[in-house]
Amino acid sequence: MLSKEELDSLNKWFEDKEPLEVLKWGIEKFHPKIVLACSLQAEDLVILDMLSKVVEKPRVFIIDTGRLHQESYDLIEEINKKYNTDLRIYFPDYSEVEALVNKHGINLFYKSVELRKACCEVRKVLPLKRALEGMQAWITGLRREQNFTRGGIKKIEIDEVNGGIVKLNPLADWTWEQVWEYIKKNNVPYNKLYDKGYKSIGCVPCTRPVKPWEHPRAGRWWWEQNSDKECGLHYRGVK
Ligand code: SF4
Repeated sequence: MLSKEELDSLNKWFEDKEPLEVLKWGIEKFHPKIVLACSLQAEDLVILDMLSKVVEKPRVFIIDTGRLHQESYDLIEEINKKYNTDLRIYFPDYSEVEALVNKHGINLFYKSVELRKACCEVRKVLPLKRALEGMQAWITGLRREQNFTRGGIKKIEIDEVNGGIVKLNPLADWTWEQVWEYIKKNNVPYNKLYDKGYKSIGCVPCTRPVKPWEHPRAGRWWWEQNSDKECGLHYRGVK
């Protein structure tokens, strides 16, 4: 879809541009086959707010793993009230969840990194594949400072893991402070878990609040010592 040369020159061009410019380019090139992945984090809401300014009824998906916080469900209702979106909610395949938990237990994720990743695969990664079917591009709220696995992300990537479609990371170079400055200034709805000390939000059993001095993702799978702290939605099969 994009050659390596095109990709390099686009990234060179967009590196010092505002996220809105990246989104406008993505919409112009791919709409209606472009979708925002909304995991109900602050970054996703910033992008949704920006998207709603450049396109009518942006397509958005949320993956409901079945283990989300009530605050996350409340935020979905707030999104529906404030924004006119084509919002689709994807669930895991119940037979795959049943097979996994009946074999390994309802809280299998605490038993080993492998089982935790198996749970993320069934509850998140496989629904993601369905959400991206027929799409030419997806948009994420990834930022370079979020995790050591994300330091090298570019604003525009080719997602080799998901069929070679384009992946836009318009907030790649934003800081945590910029995200919240935008939310406050634009009255963007946000997940109320942030008011309770959470800094990265996932499923209930796998997320906890962090201390002010801890890394924002320290609250994700906190019992794992040497894992990459990723669920598999953003494996680095990109160029
Ligand atoms: Fe399962 Fe935890 Fe991954 Fe959610 S974050 S899918 S509960 S392992």
